[in-house]
Amino acid sequence: MKLWVTPQGDKWLCDECQQELEKQIEEEGWRIAFEKWEPMLRCSVCKHCDMEVFD
Ligand SMILES: [Zn+2]
Repeated sequence: MKLWVTPQGDKWLCDECQQELEKQIEEEGWRIAFEKWEPMLRCSVCKHCDMEVFD
């Protein structure tokens, strides 16, 4: 999960949401503060975590 610095504050984004928000990220000039592999982190858009278990 990557922590993005955005005009609306810091947001954790999963890779899927990052792709969906690609245009907004570019237009608003979001930048990555840092990346962290942490199963407890939740994406602030879809609320899923990095290690989603499908069953
Ligand atoms: Zn997401």
